[in-house]
Amino acid sequence: MDGEHILTCPLCEATCGLTVRVSGGKVDLIRGDQDDVFSQGYLCAKGSLLHKIHDDPDRLRTPMIKRDGRHVRATWDEAFAAVAAGLGPVLDAGDRNAIGLYVGNPNAHNHANAIYGRTLIQALGTNQIYSASTVDQMPKHVSSGMMFGDPDLMSLPDLDRTDFLLMLGANPLESNGSVCTAPDMPGRLRAISERGGTVVVVDPRRTRTADLADQHITILPGTDAIWLAALARLLLDGAQERLGEQSTWVTGLEGLSAALGDFTPEFAESICGVPAAVTVAVASGLADNERSTVYARIGAHTTNAGTIASWLVDICNLLAGSLDRPGGAMFASAAMATIVLLPVAEGLASVGITVVSTVTPKCAASFPQRHCPTRFSNREGRLRAMIVIGGNPARSLPDTTRMEEAFEALDFMVSVDIFLNETSRFADVILPPPSSLERSHYDLALYNVAIRNVANYSPAIFEADGPHEEDIFAKLALIVAGQGADADVEIMHDLTLDAVLSSRQKSVPELADRSIDELRAMVTGDTPADRVLDAMLRAGRYGDRFGAEPEGLTLEKLKGHPHGIDFGPMRPRLPHALKTVDGKIAVLPVGFAERLADIASERSAMNGAPVLIGRRDVRSNNSWLHNVKGLVKGKDRCTLWVNPLGAAEWALADGDAALVASSVGEVEVPVEVTDRTMVGVVSLPHGWGHNALGTQLSVAREHAGVNMNVGSADQARSAVWKRHPHRYSGDGDSSGEIAASPGPVAEPSEVMLKRRAVAQMAAAKAS
Ligand code: SF4
Repeated sequence: MDGEHILTCPLCEATCGLTVRVSGGKVDLIRGDQDDVFSQGYLCAKGSLLHKIHDDPDRLRTPMIKRDGRHVRATWDEAFAAVAAGLGPVLDAGDRNAIGLYVGNPNAHNHANAIYGRTLIQALGTNQIYSASTVDQMPKHVSSGMMFGDPDLMSLPDLDRTDFLLMLGANPLESNGSVCTAPDMPGRLRAISERGGTVVVVDPRRTRTADLADQHITILPGTDAIWLAALARLLLDGAQERLGEQSTWVTGLEGLSAALGDFTPEFAESICGVPAAVTVAVASGLADNERSTVYARIGAHTTNAGTIASWLVDICNLLAGSLDRPGGAMFASAAMATIVLLPVAEGLASVGITVVSTVTPKCAASFPQRHCPTRFSNREGRLRAMIVIGGNPARSLPDTTRMEEAFEALDFMVSVDIFLNETSRFADVILPPPSSLERSHYDLALYNVAIRNVANYSPAIFEADGPHEEDIFAKLALIVAGQGADADVEIMHDLTLDAVLSSRQKSVPELADRSIDELRAMVTGDTPADRVLDAMLRAGRYGDRFGAEPEGLTLEKLKGHPHGIDFGPMRPRLPHALKTVDGKIAVLPVGFAERLADIASERSAMNGAPVLIGRRDVRSNNSWLHNVKGLVKGKDRCTLWVNPLGAAEWALADGDAALVASSVGEVEVPVEVTDRTMVGVVSLPHGWGHNALGTQLSVAREHAGVNMNVGSADQARSAVWKRHPHRYSGDGDSSGEIAASPGPVAEPSEVMLKRRAVAQMAAAKAS
């Protein structure tokens, strides 16, 4: 075990190669792998401290069962028996939809979870599936499904060959890339400018990415779709010529032109705050550069216009002549396709949306997260039990108070998690998977959004103390399938492998005449998940087709390339990759024109109240890295950014405590006055708020911060007030404080909520 090991970092989408040095059975140094075919030595602070998670004394090494309100250690047999006993009554009642499943972000970084999560879903037979995707990239899935017929066919900026990059709501210098796997984002962005190209960042904040860009354009949060519509309208001019042969495989251009008619640069200026001349100049930059590309991420997606913004990104790319062309917006050709969360009963509709009930839209089998607590409390069709896998929805979902009340009300809950965190504290049973140093790794999902076509596999460095993820998932699948806690997981492993082989046999011509027994006998791998991985690689785009293409890819071959295999840059895939019924790009999907018009009128009607937005930090990753000392040390990062002009207007100063309130809740947070955020926009990072009772996160508790999702709700807006210290001295009257608050105010109902809340706080302090 001692020596140097090569490992792909599983912490974010960048998939950096790491060199991990082990001495005396412990990791003592992690560096970037200089020979990695993709990252070439790049790593960030998180990757260099990966072993601190493995070594964390708070990390759970054994299952926990809640007894008399406290979590106590248990054996694996006891834990699975408790799961069977807890889920039994819910299953016996006969309503499979009474059990919900929440799939958190880390599942996208682990091939075992990606494969066996599907096994569990199929065994569970519920339609109540929730995932972190619906507060992340789901708008992109929806718009891609509607335009291209495939929710997973998502366009990516060809960073290494573009000469003009327009980025909206993306901050890759902190996130290291999002729905765009590209290690060393700083280096790749700098290279664009160094080869004479242009990087334009559109963001309400002057982010570190904006610092690096050639141009930073501020925009009012939530208005990206309108600005993109204005860009697209300008790009219609000359589009036919730029499209060339592509014009024969698009439909709806005339309708698109009509839908964009009102979106002049001047109209966009009135809503978005971007000068019309700037919009015209950006449109020229996109049209005049043969290699231009538009890329938008979370700031443009996590708004009520996210799907429309996502659609218009691809429209701008198409009209600029950049879609599916080198240097533009292209599509990955990964070694194998993503495994999507397939609907259990209905099947995934070709456009990516399945309507399960009369009121709830659903994409890639995942309900919107905000629907989750509603479902908990419904009298009919109530969720009675929940399985949470690698997620912390008590910190990542909007309206935390409602979410936590919903967890409290469950009959039974299981968490698969390495920490006793703000969500798993509600679980009756916690099942801890191995650390990332104790399992093999392949980025099954992320290579489908990678800007180079690569494949990299790394074996486990340490032996796991307990069962691997696939064993945990397989056991849960057997339990919900009524086989009991003692059932042999090998049954589920065989079923999973055979299901994959069978599906590949149907879709890969070279395998059509081969028997499943023959194919199964050829599969290799040290773990059940690795054997499935081998089957998928062999049947995949570069695979050996189980011997039919002897030079092709296998897991064994990949193991012989510890620094990965590079299959080259992205290459054109259209029109063959289109899965629409007519095989063409639907440039104006049904309902999108109407929604765009609605967005414009909604934005016109807004009253100018201050708007709260989030922000990323390179040392953080949602809620789950705050227990690593090296990543939380130094200056407090959970602060409210307020522009100096806004601070003066609201009489706020550095270090003051501000109350941030919406229609659903409020948090008190220290103020940081900075010109990095625009006037009228305040910024607070998410994933904090680690002071909850019943958790086991000793470091995070010392750096608790506040949970912004207490106050975030569907379409809720936020207001900021200074907390005047003297108001807490005992007079109990805060009405003057509200009345005296100058500048923008929240909507009337929020003001009333604030007035009562502040009065209550003052009274509580006084007593
Ligand atoms: S950028 Fe992402 S993948 Fe690379 S070292 Fe950092 S956390 Fe790991």
